[in-house]
Amino acid sequence: MPHARGNLSPAEAGRVSIEDHIADCLALVAPLSAIEVPLLEALGCVLTADVVAQAPLPGFDNSGMDGYAVRAQDVTGAAPGSPVRLPVTGDVFAGAAGSARLAPGTAMRIMTGAVVPDGADSVVPVENTDGGLAEVEIRAAVAAGRHVRRAGDDVETGDTVLRAGTRLNPRQLALLAAVGRTRVQVHPRPRVVVLSTGSEVVEPGQPLQRGQLYDSNGIGLVAAAQELGARAERVGIIDDEPRAVRAAVEDQVGRADVIITSGGVSMGAADIVKAVLGEIGDVTFRNVAVQPGGPQGLGTLGEERVPVFCLPGNPVSALVSFEIFVRPALRAMLGESRLHRRRVPARMLRGWSSPAGRRQYARVLLMRDATAIAGAATPYVAEPASGQGSHLAAQLAHANALAEVPEDVTEVSGGDVLECLVLERMRR
Ligand code: AMP
Ligand code: MG
Repeated sequence: MPHARGNLSPAEAGRVSIEDHIADCLALVAPLSAIEVPLLEALGCVLTADVVAQAPLPGFDNSGMDGYAVRAQDVTGAAPGSPVRLPVTGDVFAGAAGSARLAPGTAMRIMTGAVVPDGADSVVPVENTDGGLAEVEIRAAVAAGRHVRRAGDDVETGDTVLRAGTRLNPRQLALLAAVGRTRVQVHPRPRVVVLSTGSEVVEPGQPLQRGQLYDSNGIGLVAAAQELGARAERVGIIDDEPRAVRAAVEDQVGRADVIITSGGVSMGAADIVKAVLGEIGDVTFRNVAVQPGGPQGLGTLGEERVPVFCLPGNPVSALVSFEIFVRPALRAMLGESRLHRRRVPARMLRGWSSPAGRRQYARVLLMRDATAIAGAATPYVAEPASGQGSHLAAQLAHANALAEVPEDVTEVSGGDVLECLVLERMRR
């Protein structure tokens, strides 16, 4: 167990607990009302209604092989040494309406997917014949029903093929197309607008003056929102100037389902987001018992009551805050039922120290422990980032998980087991 416990609880320190802050973030949002979209716009979206098949799949009895449609009883005893010869009365191609009727004692050449003629009950694969056109030599017997794909084998009319709440993947979209749907009812993707604030923040690609840095938060936050299925965009960079912040925010309120800002929420003289949004919106600023990312703002803007999340500017704080607080809210808007990241316990390979009274989300590289013995507490180990400073963007980029250090733990030791939020598939 982790040791060296501090003794300041979040409430005692005047901080809001992580659980309370998450609950308040979730209270600002609800699943977006269902809309009907073309299938290919529904990838990754959550179905709002069951889908019931209006017709069977397959839609008709059809051949599973290229070969000859026959009556099984006409080819009993057929074998390589004692073939059965049948006259071929025609060809049936896939797509032909298939009104043909097979007379007893005859065969029809048939292609994969073609309608099995009435009167035939099975298909002899072409490999078991001489491939004849006027007459065919059948060299193997076939069981009745063999190589015939029956109407309704897969889906019967009236079957519920997908249930409300399903997050649509490519295989499920293919099924919707197969049962004749072109559109489907889903929760739409929230439109997320990301506003980066800071007079020192510069558009990536522009020359930097001393004292400036690139807008990495804008890129990271938009990408994080897109990755979970939102429609996200960056809207420029805003100077630490009240009028600029106010104008940018007011401009975006009508266009967004959610606004995310970064920077300007701390105690500094230029922490303008806090000053302006506190005035024009119903927005609260608070200190959350989390590290990185203590200062957080949340609330709504405008008559539309557009949810707004104000994240701190440090690159690690911004993205970790998104993970813990904003991502669950966006997933709720998408209609997802599982809001939080998967967690696994992992044994830490090294120790580090963590602040008292705040839960730390430490950046770690989570791995499967190849040497773990049967019965080990966990099959995972984690290598902590070499530094946990909230400005260390590269350390975050190399991490694939966040290890949770409880509020009352100030020293983690190598060998301690911590819960980890899994951000990425593990590399090994
Ligand atoms: P703030 O929260 O505005 O006090 O900013 C905290 C730190 O994060 C400062 O060092 C800022 O320069 C930095 N920062 C603020 N916004 C961004 C951004 N969009 N991209 C990268 N770093 C930022
Ligand atoms: Mg700032």
